[in-house]
Amino acid sequence: MMTYDVACPICGRINRSLYLEETEGWMECECCGNSSQDLSFRKRAKIPVFRMRPGIKRMSLKRKTAAAQ
Ligand SMILES: [Zn+2]
Repeated sequence: MMTYDVACPICGRINRSLYLEETEGWMECECCGNSSQDLSFRKRAKIPVFRMRPGIKRMSLKRKTAAAQ
């Protein structure tokens, strides 16, 4: 399997020999610990949490709060 060297977008550290095809582009920086994704490796159209519409997120939060009471 091919491995890749990727520069961390946060701190610029080169992370070597990453199996980006297995992780769909995700890597965790060995220097600063931040996770980032190279979008060119993404295979499926997933909907990441941070892309949810604010209205939906707020609704689910309200539901969670109501259930806790
Ligand atoms: Zn980093």
